Amino acid sequence: MKVTVVCEHNRAMDSEEGKKAYPEGMENCIAEFLRSAGHEVKTILLDDQGAHGLDDKLLSETEVMFWWGHLYHGAVADDLVEKIADRVQCGMGMVLLHSAHMSKIFRRLLGTSCTLKWREDGELERLWCVYPTHPIAKGLGEYIDIPREEMYGEPFDIPTPDELVYIGWFRGGEVFRGGCVFNRGRGKIFYFNPGHETYPTYKIPEVQKLLNQACAYVAPAEPIVEKMVCPHIPEFSVKD
Ligand code: ZN
Repeated sequence: MKVTVVCEHNRAMDSEEGKKAYPEGMENCIAEFLRSAGHEVKTILLDDQGAHGLDDKLLSETEVMFWWGHLYHGAVADDLVEKIADRVQCGMGMVLLHSAHMSKIFRRLLGTSCTLKWREDGELERLWCVYPTHPIAKGLGEYIDIPREEMYGEPFDIPTPDELVYIGWFRGGEVFRGGCVFNRGRGKIFYFNPGHETYPTYKIPEVQKLLNQACAYVAPAEPIVEKMVCPHIPEFSVKD
């Protein structure tokens, strides 16, 4: 599978805690466990200037896209967001991580504000599986503990997920729909809340297994089409 990992680099990643969590860079940590599952992975840097090198050619080759962003959502060009949204509707899979809940592409695909409740506490998140037979949760047991994570809580302003796989619980008593699948056109989207940049969440073996299974699940089962055309009004396709 051809996977593109779009990952922001921000100042928190250059802090002592950030470097301790991911000395190799978060994008390389994510790319590495995807490569270990046999995928061909390219990483794209997202910063205050936008997503560097995410051009039409790479997009047309990408079968699954991972996206981690936080501070620089606004730097992503609107026409690029439209192209990615089209590609998802044509069949590309997408995995959106942590603070990508406020990314332009997630909000564009879901159509809601995607706002949530938040507290940065570095506390335990217990991620309960509420769909034990789902392929993303295979072999991962009843729950996964993330020792230190940011609290993301409900209400989370998203459409009702097509498949709800995980609900996170926090010590403050908050709960959160933290593992959700959405179908958009021919494409599948998975949103996963853990992964604050100063905690080494993506080094946890269960999380790596879950995300590799998510990659396989959202991967296109059929060839990705070039565009979605409606035979009723063939003069106008969604890309025109
Ligand atoms: Zn965070």
